[in-house]
Amino acid sequence: MKSPMPVSRRTAVIALGAGAALTLSGRAQTPPAPASGPLTLPKLGYALDALEPHIDARTMEIHHSKHHQAYVTNANNALAKLPDLARMGPEEIVRSLGKAPESSRAALRNNVGGHLNHALFWETIGPKGGGAPSGELAAAISGAFGSLDAFKTQFADAAMKTFGSGWAWLILRDGKLSIKTLPNQDSPLMEGGRPVLGLDVWEHAYYLKYQNRRADYVAAFWNVVRWDKVAEVHAAARRG
Ligand code: MN
Repeated sequence: MKSPMPVSRRTAVIALGAGAALTLSGRAQTPPAPASGPLTLPKLGYALDALEPHIDARTMEIHHSKHHQAYVTNANNALAKLPDLARMGPEEIVRSLGKAPESSRAALRNNVGGHLNHALFWETIGPKGGGAPSGELAAAISGAFGSLDAFKTQFADAAMKTFGSGWAWLILRDGKLSIKTLPNQDSPLMEGGRPVLGLDVWEHAYYLKYQNRRADYVAAFWNVVRWDKVAEVHAAARRG
């Protein structure tokens, strides 16, 4: 259908800026359907190829714009008929699954959980990652695990032993750090803990580049961890 009025270049540029995502080659792509609920897909703070070679651009594109978007869409669909829950923030929703009607509980658990887990994941990885934590987080990790290397070994071990789909987590609970794997899109919030750092070990997170070599993906993860951001998350969790 033709536009009834000529569209100026400026209008076209504004329209593009408002909704379109750019592919790696810079061409405009059809944007995802607008959000129709309380949750929205967060924008990545870096380019899709910014984590190369550790996490490839195609995986990032599909993981963010398809998988994470699906959790957001499905969560919003589930919340559409639950106005009391929809008014809560996503953290409170996953802490309050017992208040949800049983028919919606699994959808909320999987999809609000999936949204929160991925939102934290994108924030705690980045192109200037790697290295080591400093300050309070470094002290807390050494206190809990002996050393950063010992923490990394235990965390990687947990990630490798996650059977099926799930995440390896660094969790703060009752002021203490611990490592735990949780299945599917369960959040540490669901069991009274606070997520500090999570590694997605669903196959969708690594299979295009690493196939069955999960150990290589887990090893590569340390090159993209933003310890400055993880320290912020840890500090916020300590404040309660
Ligand atoms: Mn994922």
